[in-house]
Amino acid sequence: MSPTAPAAVRDRLRIAIQKSGRLGEPSRALLASCGLDFRESRDRLFCYGETLPIDLLLVRDDDIPGLLADGVCDLGIVGRNVLAEQAAGRAAEALPEVARELRTLGFGGCRLDIAVPDGWDWSGPAQLTGRRIATSYPHLVRQWLEGQGIAADVVLLSGSVEIAPRLGQADVICDLVSSGATLAANQLRPVLTLLQSEAVLAGPVRAFTDARAELMALLLRRMDGVLRLRDSRLLMFQTTREAVPALMKLLPDAEPPTVMQLDGQDTLALQTLCRGTMTWQRLEDLRQAGARGLMVLPVERTLA
Ligand code: ATP
Ligand code: ZN
Repeated sequence: MSPTAPAAVRDRLRIAIQKSGRLGEPSRALLASCGLDFRESRDRLFCYGETLPIDLLLVRDDDIPGLLADGVCDLGIVGRNVLAEQAAGRAAEALPEVARELRTLGFGGCRLDIAVPDGWDWSGPAQLTGRRIATSYPHLVRQWLEGQGIAADVVLLSGSVEIAPRLGQADVICDLVSSGATLAANQLRPVLTLLQSEAVLAGPVRAFTDARAELMALLLRRMDGVLRLRDSRLLMFQTTREAVPALMKLLPDAEPPTVMQLDGQDTLALQTLCRGTMTWQRLEDLRQAGARGLMVLPVERTLA
């Protein structure tokens, strides 16, 4: 199907996720926490949605943008790097965008970095002029080079990009980096970042007009609830009225608290939903500012 053809009318939503690899497990976990349950098929490629009319397609991550473009699936969980590479490729051919980021999902974090041999004295992007850059992200690299006004050769490699300089295939590389350990092991050093990436929920540029519109709204609503809660905790403590302003200053990530006056005492009991991580240090700081009986509780579910 051509990307500009009108999407077929469907009454079930289809989500593509990575079959295995780095994003497979967290993607399934996220959908499960949104209440989606799937019946596994024998080939483990297509999984039928049991609790809702939302089905799952298990594929290679690189195939997800194409499946979205062709309308084979409606949503995908994929690295921003993969989605951006498709977008850059389409932009180079003056084709319209077919997928966009609907949500950032908070896992699969990495960077698309230029890395140079350890021995290089890095002075800036101009140093890449006339050099060969090995990468699996040719469109993103070309787009970036163009933006910088630099003429360099892009060498397309589908894997093991980091050994290209040692093999003499390229001078530098542009590849995904998370810890940097792989680069270091190959005597390479990251010098600049083209893209900050993480897993995203990708979806159509135009809204659906059939039953999928409502299914997508429902899924996004649930996903927002799950994402909002990821680090959220219910914080409970007691304190005096005078101490409240100072305590709330220490809780910029908290919702306006529920305040209860304890009978016949000068003490208040407060409870508030806190978005950020509640570390021991934060509890110590709150105690210092007058909070007592601090309690941190997990939050199972919210629905706005
Ligand atoms: P597939 O068989 O599905 O093609 P793959 O080998 O291309 O798998 P993975 O290595 O599992 O893919 O990476 C999937 C995604 O995980 C990447 O596109 C990227 O968004 C993210 N990611 C996070 N950290 C890293 C990293 N250090 N190296 C590569 N990808 C990373
Ligand atoms: Zn891949």
